[in-house]
Amino acid sequence: MNKKKINIIVTAGPTHEYIDPVRYITNPSTGVMGYEIARRAKLKGHNVTLISGPTNNPKPAGVKVVDVVTAWQMKNAVDKYFAACDCLVMAAAVADFRPQSVFSGKIKKKKSLSLILEQTPDILAGLVHKKAGRIIAGFALETENLIKNAKFKLKNKNLDFIVANLYSKNTIPFGSRNVSLYIIDKEDREEGFINLSKSRLAGIILDRIEKLWYKSINISRGVK
Ligand code: C5P
Repeated sequence: MNKKKINIIVTAGPTHEYIDPVRYITNPSTGVMGYEIARRAKLKGHNVTLISGPTNNPKPAGVKVVDVVTAWQMKNAVDKYFAACDCLVMAAAVADFRPQSVFSGKIKKKKSLSLILEQTPDILAGLVHKKAGRIIAGFALETENLIKNAKFKLKNKNLDFIVANLYSKNTIPFGSRNVSLYIIDKEDREEGFINLSKSRLAGIILDRIEKLWYKSINISRGVK
């Protein structure tokens, strides 16, 4: 097996979509998953670029970290580094909506306030036609129809595999908690995991990526 370094981009954390200069819309993502994947990928000897929304995680040693705040900034950073990568792991919890306009000053207190939200760009969907031989992995968090929705995203976003996190009152996949999940690949194979640490999950994800990548480069070189 050819053990060449893989150029990996990992995205992590939430994005913040500003309403006014001091308030924003976000989600509870802490970035722990993406940072753990980046840290382990570096330990395995790969070249790692971590594109991170706002989090409190320490920067993994030897990893190039690109800090972003909004979904648009994350998209611009992913687009910039994508051409030179072999693999993208989209672990970030990108906000799906942002305020249509941002108030220039702090909004004053009032009885009610209506906001119009507009869709942010879907970063993975924008890469569907640029994928070429790259390995792309995504994450899904659903409150219902997990497998069905995850399979739709896998197909729609042209992913090699998707990590579908179970979400219930007792299994909330944010922060350093253990997670229960399925990994679904594009051959429609499902593998289930219960109560796994994010560190173990990062190892499983990287093993899959390495397997897929080394297989693909050996195939393209005609190695059997
Ligand atoms: O939000 P959604 O469930 O569609 O997320 C599925 C995958 O798509 C995740 O890997 C996430 O990082 C990615 N995503 C994206 N751009 C968005 C929203 C999500 O690339 N605007």
